[in-house]
Amino acid sequence: MSLLDVQGLTIRYGNDTVVDGVDLYIDRGESVGLVGESGSGKSQSALAILGLLPRQAEVSGSILFDEQQLLGASERELDTFRARRIGMVFQDPMQALNPYLRIGAQLRQILRSHGGTDKAAVDARVLEMLAKVGLPDPDRQLRAYPHELSGGMRQRVMLASALIVEPDLLIADEPTTALDVTVQAQILDLLEDIRDNTALLLITHDLGVVAGHCEHMIVLDKGHLVEQGQTTTLFAAPGHPHTRTLLDAAPRVDRGDVATSATGSTILSVSDASVEYRDLTAVRKVSFAVREGETVAVVGESGSGKSSVVRAMLGLVPLSAGRVVYAGKNLEGPVERRLKSQRRDLQLVFQDPVSALNPQMRVRAIVAEPLLVHEPSMTAAERLERVTAILEKVGLSERFLQRFPHQLSGGQAQRVAIARALILRPRVLVCDEAVAALDGSVRRQVLDMLRAVQADTGLSIIFISHDLAVVRSISHRVLVMYLGKLVEAADSGTLFTAPRHPYTQALLDSVPVPDPVVVPKRAPLRGEVPSPVNPPPGCVFHPRCTKAEARCGSTAPSMRDVAGSSVACHFPN
Ligand code: SF4
Repeated sequence: MSLLDVQGLTIRYGNDTVVDGVDLYIDRGESVGLVGESGSGKSQSALAILGLLPRQAEVSGSILFDEQQLLGASERELDTFRARRIGMVFQDPMQALNPYLRIGAQLRQILRSHGGTDKAAVDARVLEMLAKVGLPDPDRQLRAYPHELSGGMRQRVMLASALIVEPDLLIADEPTTALDVTVQAQILDLLEDIRDNTALLLITHDLGVVAGHCEHMIVLDKGHLVEQGQTTTLFAAPGHPHTRTLLDAAPRVDRGDVATSATGSTILSVSDASVEYRDLTAVRKVSFAVREGETVAVVGESGSGKSSVVRAMLGLVPLSAGRVVYAGKNLEGPVERRLKSQRRDLQLVFQDPVSALNPQMRVRAIVAEPLLVHEPSMTAAERLERVTAILEKVGLSERFLQRFPHQLSGGQAQRVAIARALILRPRVLVCDEAVAALDGSVRRQVLDMLRAVQADTGLSIIFISHDLAVVRSISHRVLVMYLGKLVEAADSGTLFTAPRHPYTQALLDSVPVPDPVVVPKRAPLRGEVPSPVNPPPGCVFHPRCTKAEARCGSTAPSMRDVAGSSVACHFPN
């Protein structure tokens, strides 16, 4: 008998069926990946297992956990299973942690509510658990409030709070989606470590995570189970077209074509740029150039300064030192004081399209708005013609003209945001995590569209991303930043095949590969990015570098050319 045996699970909200007849089994110690795009019913299924769906949800079918029926059980009965026997970890740990309670108190409370009475034993167990999930300096962090911890540390605390009572099953819903790839690797390794005692239901849209960590996988599409089986089998020979679509849309960091170097002339250059915010330096003396028709990716963990340097370039935050030259002219001061022509030539697309689009305006007006400012003499008919043409270019037909943002899917909204940025025919488009929130198949369509516009118009793209597999698929050149500094710059072909800086190597090795037969290379990068308020002396990467030597702690390496790459390391590979 399976530990969890779900049969015919159906969830309805009025006439809307969000999960339709899903069967799901998990054996003790087994790890099962539940995959699908947004709206496929993954999270709804997990919440149903835990009895956490809102009241208006109508749920039918059967949910047996250790042979006991959970569906229809009272809150009191469910409480005996939740937390004690079935733990849950969410994408956003802030939702689950009490912001007013110190970390140690929250964990002690869990143990006490499960019968822990011996204070010394409870304290010891809490410390043991925090150390086990890799929280640095657990003695001190016990007294911290959740907001004082980084996202990665909070996720570790969340994991500790789910595992402290040794549940039989852990349901982890996109537990690493919001984390940097290096922290993701550490958390996924932790989930591997618990597998002797705890079965795992891992809900994710990331097929790399499933390939590396789940023996079995279940594919959902619009509430229907379309395929399930051994992960290796499904990856090798997907039986359902939707599984094939998901696999085809999963970018790989370890293989695939990379764009050959762009040969256009330099359109934009940033020299010795520094950005300071009150007491910290977010960017230190960063220099790079972008060619016409080139896509330059800027990568690095949170706190690397990748967004800050580009925002300073655009005049959205002040540059404390250095200069930006666009088309042979200095770009100075905040964006509102720059020349109109300079403003129209440099456009930006953010990660969250919905918040970037005015909810009270129709798509037609949203996309046309920049024309009113920059081309006021244009007639209404001419504007409509331009709007229709640009929407077509981003793959949206005329029927979208009259829609409001809330009537668009995430992918459609992002296309509208890109159309609005492109309508002025800019020469440089900055995409700041612009495809990070999109499902795989939609992300691929948006990237294909950007490539097509670039081929057509010679657009230059600066692509800020934490996703190196996506970066490989789109960029001509890559800049790697760490703690405000540029540590490596190279053509994509060079960077992805022969990374020189230990940080670049660690980043690449941390990316999960959507292929269960590929053995991960990584030795996880230790710790987290240090605070930019008090950066380490010498090479800023030395506290985490596996190749550090004595000199690294005292002398900062400067950029030098090594076989096609520019690298800031005393001992480049
Ligand atoms: Fe590592 Fe030293 Fe190179 Fe820095 S300079 S990346 S610490 S080997």
